[in-house]
Amino acid sequence: MGCDKCDDPAVMHAAYSGLHLCESHLCRSVENRVRRRVREDSLVPEDATPEDPDTWVIGLSGGKDSVVLTEILHDTFERDPRVELVALSIHEGIEGYRDESLDACEELTADLGVRHEVVSYAEEFGVRMDDVVEDDPENMAACAYCGVFRRDVLERYAGKLGADKLLTGHNLDDEAQTALMNVFEGDVQQIAGHFDASLGPFEPTGDGPTERARPPQDHHVPRAKPLRDVPEKEVGLYAHLRDLPAHITECPHAEEAYRGEIQQLLLEMEESHPGTRHSVMAGYEKLAALASAAFDDGDASYGECEVCGAPTGRAVCRTCDLLDALDGRL
Ligand code: SF4
Repeated sequence: MGCDKCDDPAVMHAAYSGLHLCESHLCRSVENRVRRRVREDSLVPEDATPEDPDTWVIGLSGGKDSVVLTEILHDTFERDPRVELVALSIHEGIEGYRDESLDACEELTADLGVRHEVVSYAEEFGVRMDDVVEDDPENMAACAYCGVFRRDVLERYAGKLGADKLLTGHNLDDEAQTALMNVFEGDVQQIAGHFDASLGPFEPTGDGPTERARPPQDHHVPRAKPLRDVPEKEVGLYAHLRDLPAHITECPHAEEAYRGEIQQLLLEMEESHPGTRHSVMAGYEKLAALASAAFDDGDASYGECEVCGAPTGRAVCRTCDLLDALDGRL
């Protein structure tokens, strides 16, 4: 089968668009979708200059998503120094897993000439995920602990590195799964929080309630997900075709059972109704903007953790709670 845009052989068929694309048109299409998302989300502020650039910290795990995001943003801003990129990697303390993916991060950032910082749970919190899984004082999945520690590290280091924005490599499949999980759990406040934290543009796109900009949050570095229009399969293909140093082994502690069920459901729906992920996200973003407007409380409930001083809506933040459960340090 040939490419629909030139005479080269197609390397993929996107059922949702009906297009067969060759290597070069697929790669260009992925890059264009990331750049369009950067524009539509108004990620580059009008007052950014080469002398005073906007600093974007990218959470770089070494997996295909964050590697592809870093590569495309580097290409995009290499000759447009209004944006400065810094890659931030986290070592969770998972034997035989994270060392290899950090090698991939180092290879990529050295190739691109992007500043790269590495932070470990051991240095930050005195814990390693392998030991956390063993102790499991809260009887939770490994990812529930790991997610709390990761958010904490990303947030604090984004601040230390002077980030204006914190970027993560979530793709279309990740985002459609999260959207459906939030809807199925029926938690409208969580849907509003998803919009406020990482969806929607920084500038309003019109006057209607669904065209509102996400509200500014004093306590968090603003987040962005420029890869969120690109399906996971295309991200993987891009990494392969561009021969990027992505690490694809799965974490030995991965066991998000509910997300796995939603992933399977979405893949089946996509198979019989191509375009399902796109329509889920188009509707969800409007719904989330409306929920955000309805729950707009001006961040009134945010204060500082009594133990570590991190911003939190509770007396003691979740990270300190978990560390106390692990080793009674409070
Ligand atoms: Fe942490 Fe879970 Fe990711 Fe493993 S799969 S690195 S435990 S969040």
